[in-house]
Amino acid sequence: MHAVTLNNGVEMPILGFGVFQIADDQTQQAVEAALAAGYRSIDTAAAYGNERAVGAAIAASGIPRDQLFVTTKLWVQDAPAEANTRRAFDASLAHLGLDHVDLYLIHQPFGDYYAQWRAMQELNREGRARAIGVSNFAPDQLLDLIINNDIVPAVNQIETHPFRQNVEYQELMRAEGVQLESWGPFAEGKNGLFSNEVLTAIGAAHDVSVAQVVLRWMIQREIVVIPKSVDPGRMAQNIDVFGFELTEDEMARIAELHTGQSQFFDHADPEMVRWLSARRLES
Ligand code: NDP
Repeated sequence: MHAVTLNNGVEMPILGFGVFQIADDQTQQAVEAALAAGYRSIDTAAAYGNERAVGAAIAASGIPRDQLFVTTKLWVQDAPAEANTRRAFDASLAHLGLDHVDLYLIHQPFGDYYAQWRAMQELNREGRARAIGVSNFAPDQLLDLIINNDIVPAVNQIETHPFRQNVEYQELMRAEGVQLESWGPFAEGKNGLFSNEVLTAIGAAHDVSVAQVVLRWMIQREIVVIPKSVDPGRMAQNIDVFGFELTEDEMARIAELHTGQSQFFDHADPEMVRWLSARRLES
């Protein structure tokens, strides 16, 4: 599997498997199928409620731990956030049945995320989280965190797909040593992504699907992708993106699909801030 090297030297597969919105009772089967299809990077989160099932699939696979890259995420914590971050991390490890994760992310830029980050820096120094990063951080939030802390986040996982390309933001992250990881690479099919004319035409030229074009386009931009599917046929398709290359002209045509609009919600929308900040996980 092709990999990117994070800012602390840790290697991360450029393509992995996301498990958001896979029901807990379907997740073990889905992750086992993904591992059988060749995926070696799995992206989960405490908030997805399926860490146990991910752990069960990893255990059942028999794949040596050092050949896997496991990411999970910390949900918003109450005060005292440093102690609660450590508790939440311990719970995630216990659910996953692991003694370390490869990447631990702050899931949302809400609450006392400075205290959360301090605790995560410790977890990183202790070797229990090989790399640490953030998710859904806007440029100002990311830069502020970088400027005022010791460890630069290895990754920022943000909504990135043909309609929201984050080209300028990627330049900023690159300059700061932060790897861009896309969530929602297909925009979950919104805005007609799978029947988009430009993507369909490019797919036809290479005899591949729209999904493969989208993933290949991001990989050529050096963006880490974690597509989700519960369908073994689509899992196989989504990982089969290393046997063709998009031309400069095709990359330029995809660049024109950018609208800048989120297909989901705006993290700066006061209603979303209220909703996300109020949510707490059961331990
Ligand atoms: P995606 O953009 O990956 O879209 C998933 C949808 O596309 C599913 O409905 C799936 O259906 C369908 N699909 C997958 N492959 C194909 C294909 N080849 N052809 C046609 N349809 C296909 O959405 P996600 O929101 O799941 O994003 C991916 C991952 O990113 C998540 O699983 C999660 O790990 C992460 N994420 C992180 C967030 C964050 O806040 N940090 C927020 C959202 C996601 P089916 O399953 O039936 O194949």
